[in-house]
Formats: sequence, structure tokens, C-alpha cells
Amino acid sequence: MIRLNDLKISYRIANRTIDAVDGVSLTIPDGCIVGIAGESGSGKSTLMKAIYGDIQAPMHISRGSIDYDFQGADGRPVTTQTIRRQWFKSISYIPQSSMNSLNPVIRIGRQFTDFPGTDSNKKRVLEQARTYLGKLGLPPEVMESYPHQLSGGMRQRVMIGLATFFQPDLIIADEPTTALDVVVQKEILMLLMELQEEMGNTILVVSHDMGVHYQVTHKMLIMYAGRVVEYGDTESVFGDPQHPYTKMLIDSLPTIGDDSMRGVIASAAGAGGDRAFRAEPVLVEVKPNHFVARAPQPDNVLA
Ligand code: ADP
Ligand code: MG
Repeated sequence: MIRLNDLKISYRIANRTIDAVDGVSLTIPDGCIVGIAGESGSGKSTLMKAIYGDIQAPMHISRGSIDYDFQGADGRPVTTQTIRRQWFKSISYIPQSSMNSLNPVIRIGRQFTDFPGTDSNKKRVLEQARTYLGKLGLPPEVMESYPHQLSGGMRQRVMIGLATFFQPDLIIADEPTTALDVVVQKEILMLLMELQEEMGNTILVVSHDMGVHYQVTHKMLIMYAGRVVEYGDTESVFGDPQHPYTKMLIDSLPTIGDDSMRGVIASAAGAGGDRAFRAEPVLVEVKPNHFVARAPQPDNVLA
């Protein structure tokens, strides 16, 4: 389980501060795939990086905290300050393009053995990695290849291999297939779904494709302008969306993923949508496991 407590994440540049995520409080249960959707610039990547613990200037947590329920090698609870030591082991990150995430001068095989604290028997790790990559649909020669010798889809499979090899409690995939062609996109997402079923861990996946979200996720988190506008079980969010922004995303479902449609959404949000979609940070549970952002009503305040 991961708990976000009134999280506010900002970027300080020169004498200006951008609050990219503002007042996010929610709980992510174990063993589920959570889909994250929202317009470009709504703070999805900022939130994912913060959960991963990759917090580098000018980004900083300006308020609130994140609780993780997994432990470090020393048996102590992992915190934002110590989570780096758990990268790949308790938590891993699959970026939009693995091009810059795989070390270009190291052969794929060695990328699996180069972790502090992994099995010191490198030969054994290499054999396990070869078998594992085979299971992910990669030929054995990949182990001896350099990243640039592989296609984008193969590199992304390698990245998924690295991110799942140690069976981490939490995997974050931030638009993991955006750089790939449509057929490979589906294959990669289905692969992630199968791995999650096997490992029973938690995956957070950011995608623009609401069709994929509907197929793959157990829960949906919808963001708008740095806030969560809706969060709930996927069936419930798709079957009975509550927030106007969520409704718009779901209405555009048949063509979403197509760039022209994204343009329509962006302009709708820009022109007047802004006020209608902007949300208070208070989430109200409108149905079991289905929360929507609403301004606090006077009744709620009194109660
Ligand atoms: P999303 O992933 O939903 O597209 P981001 O989290 O990347 O959104 O960005 C949220 C906001 O934070 C945007 O206004 C963006 O301009 C700002 N932002 C993101 N990264 C930086 C950065 N390195 N420096 C300054 N502002 C940033
Ligand atoms: Mg992003």
C-alpha cells in the first residue's frame, strides 16, 4: 500500500514557483494496476517521479508526504529519503523511451548484473536474465547486444525485463509505449499485465489511451491541473464517471490515442473547460471505492 498525504510538488525556477501537483491525498492498495490519465501538463509525470523518489532540483516536495509499506534491506520502512537504495528491488520505473535509460556502452546482459547487493554469482544472474528475457519474447543474442543494436520495441522489452526481474513491490510505467508503433504498444501493455498477474505487485501506468486503460487497469486516477479529479475502480469510473473532465475523456474513447483527438481535448480544456474542470483537492467517496473532487458543501463542513 502507498499513501499520499496532501502531497504538493513544485518546481522553483528563477524566482517563480510552479505547483505541478497540489494537494493530492489517496491510498493505492497492493496488487492492482492503477491507470493514470489526464491532459498534458496536469502533473502525471511529476507525481510518478515523486512516488519513485526521483526528486531532483528544481523539483521538490513542498508539502505533504508519501508512505510506503515496503522495507529496505536494513528492515526499516522505506521513505522518500531512502527509496533510491530500493530502486529495481522494491520499486522500478519504466520511462516513455528506454533509449536514455539503458546505459549505451554496456551490453544488455551486464545491465542485469550491475546492481549493488544482487547475487554475487554473476554467471548465475546472467543465465537467469537470459531465460527471463526469453520469456519476454527476446532472442538470446540480445544479452550480448548494445542498446543501439535493438529496435525500440526490443529495448522497451529489455527495460521491462530490468524493471521486473527482481519482482519489485511497485512498478511505475510512465507512457511506456508512446514511442512505439501501435501493434507493439498493445503487446507491451499486455506483457505488463501478464507480469502483474504473476507477481501480484502494484503497477502505476500513465497512458493517454483510455481504451488501454479500460482493458488493463483495476483502478483509474484522473488528473487535471495538478489535482486528482476522480479516483476509483475502473468499472465504476468508466461505467459512471462523475467529474466533467472524466466524462469528456471517456466520451472521446473511440478515437482517443489519435493525435487529432488529443488536439480537440487540449483546446476544449484551454477554452473555458478550465473553470469547469478545475477541482478542489477534497475527494468525496460517491460510491464504494469511487472518489470525485468536489468543492466542500456547507453541509459537509458542518458535519
Ligand atoms: P504531465 O506528465 O501530466 O504531462 P508534468 O508532470 O510533466 O505533466 O508537468 C506538470 C507541470 O510541471 C507542467 O506545468 C510543467 O511545465 C511543469 N514542469 C515539469 N517539469 C518541469 C521542470 N523540470 N522544470 C519546470 N517545470 C516543470
Ligand atoms: Mg508526462
